[in-house]
Amino acid sequence: MQQREAYMKIAIQAAMDSSKNGGVAIGAVLVDAATGEVVATGGSQVRISKDPTAHAEITAIRTAAKLRSTDDLSGLILFSTLEPCHMCLSAAAWARVPQIFFGAYRKNVDETLFDIKGDFSDEQEGKRMNLRENLTMKVSGGVLEAECAELLATYHEPPKHAFKIA
Ligand SMILES: [Zn+2]
Repeated sequence: MQQREAYMKIAIQAAMDSSKNGGVAIGAVLVDAATGEVVATGGSQVRISKDPTAHAEITAIRTAAKLRSTDDLSGLILFSTLEPCHMCLSAAAWARVPQIFFGAYRKNVDETLFDIKGDFSDEQEGKRMNLRENLTMKVSGGVLEAECAELLATYHEPPKHAFKIA
């Protein structure tokens, strides 16, 4: 389905915008499943806003909910350049988003880039979330995988703080 790639390209653009503004190059877009309308885009705002929860998916969900004046985003499909983390999967579930497409798998982007390693939220994870009754969130990855992974090729985690309790 070519449409998926077209929407992922919009998410990639949001990722590049985030990167240009000093953020991490991860982007997301929410699309109206019935009309194909792009409702909201979002880039990672974590570094920009100094907000650890401001992942690209969360940013897009917040914008879409505000624009639509509802917390029910059950008509929207979420695209993300990177395999969503559990926080974002949860946020999508609470927003009733029925389907997520992502680009790069975390395990295929350099594992050392992220604190949490390995299979983070594989395609089965959506089914395991079970936060809402009657919601079976479909999650599938690999849409424009190479381009989405390439976005993070130059990303480096900031140095870690030593944690010590005297
Ligand atoms: Zn996330």
